Amino acid sequence: MVRGLLNKLVSRSLSVAGKWQQQQLRRLNIHEYQGAELMNKYGINVPKGIAVSSVDEAKNAVQTAFPDAKELVVKSQILAGGRGLGTFKSGLKGGVHIVKVDQVEDYAGKMLGQILVTKQTGPQGKVVSKVYLCEKLSLTNEMYFAITLDRITAGPLIIACRKGGTSIEDLAENFPDMIIKVPIDVFQGITDEDAAKVVDGLAPKTADRKDSIEQVKKLYKLFCECDCTLLEVNPMAETSENQLVAADAKLNFDDNAAFRQKAIFALRDPTQEDPREVDAAKADLNYIGLDGEIGCMVNGAGLAMATMDIIKLHGGTPANFLDVGGNASEGQVVEAFKILTSDEKVKAILVNIFGGIMKCDVIASGIVNAAKQVDLKVPVVVRLEGTNVDQGKRILKESGLTLITAEDLDDAAEKAVKAAY
Ligand code: GDP
Ligand code: MN
Repeated sequence: MVRGLLNKLVSRSLSVAGKWQQQQLRRLNIHEYQGAELMNKYGINVPKGIAVSSVDEAKNAVQTAFPDAKELVVKSQILAGGRGLGTFKSGLKGGVHIVKVDQVEDYAGKMLGQILVTKQTGPQGKVVSKVYLCEKLSLTNEMYFAITLDRITAGPLIIACRKGGTSIEDLAENFPDMIIKVPIDVFQGITDEDAAKVVDGLAPKTADRKDSIEQVKKLYKLFCECDCTLLEVNPMAETSENQLVAADAKLNFDDNAAFRQKAIFALRDPTQEDPREVDAAKADLNYIGLDGEIGCMVNGAGLAMATMDIIKLHGGTPANFLDVGGNASEGQVVEAFKILTSDEKVKAILVNIFGGIMKCDVIASGIVNAAKQVDLKVPVVVRLEGTNVDQGKRILKESGLTLITAEDLDDAAEKAVKAAY
């Protein structure tokens, strides 16, 4: 019984830790049209395309960029995959449409400003602020190609599959034997032999083998030079002109490289991100938005996860993961508090601080200052322990704020759940 409970708690913590780590690792995601432009610079074959943000722009683009086209692909630009099979909240099915040129304006109008929901967006969906108009290629074959960072070989890993178009999860389930993996020695770089192995894995039917090897090498060059954490081309397509073409790509970049990838990081589109996470990133807080009702402010990732688990154990659900860190300033505490109180789903706030390097009086002053600046409509439960705890408690008491104080973590979680529901 106890073991079962422990397992449950640990697995929950691990999944949050996973999400946190993932976000730490691949912070920047760019739009398809931006990725295509970057790939084009590296000599990678991409469909000709132009991104537009209004029906008028779409009309102009058709006339100037595609005077001879009969059909075009109209693609919603959101920072999430699965668009082809997505549905707009307006009812329109599909975020990617192949249409006759005289229908382009109509479709651009139906997509722009609308919310597209896909397997990857969550039920709230993402707003389409741009559509990407692309030449329609006659695809004769769809394959899968990706470069990622591999923990086991501690370096770049190229993944290729002769089938593509559907997600790698589905490919792994349906065609596990067709997926090949080629680790690359990051010091040596990609060799002709490595690239040839990848091309064998893609097994193009008509594309020239030498050209294909060159395309793979160019993709690898981009991955390294641009500090990517992921470069996924799906589909890597073959056209009737016997060429490999990156028909759709997802590129992620390592946040730690922002200082030397200024042009790429300038492409960040905050309108596609969770606004709570955008604000948190500005204040340099470790924050992940979740769907529950209890806002958490905790110091230390481990304590933050334990706090979330105990909330869950008492029948509540956390609204976020927030680690204010070991040496947060009063200003950061104020920012953290603002993010929690501006979240309409939050019905109670639980502050759980174990003072070490982080001092309880700093947290207390932060809470008091924040309370002066925001309209505090929800109950706040505070549990302070550790360095300067007495000063912290005194500051809270003398502030005149109505706070619910708790003795320990269990007591705090119980009180927060009671207060929220
Ligand atoms: P995703 O659903 O977000 O991955 O969007 P994609 O850009 O991959 O588009 C979905 C699907 O549309 C692709 O897997 C292709 O089958 C199809 N598609 C996209 N562009 C073209 C094109 O130029 N020609 C043809 N025939 N199909 C295309
Ligand atoms: Mn795709």
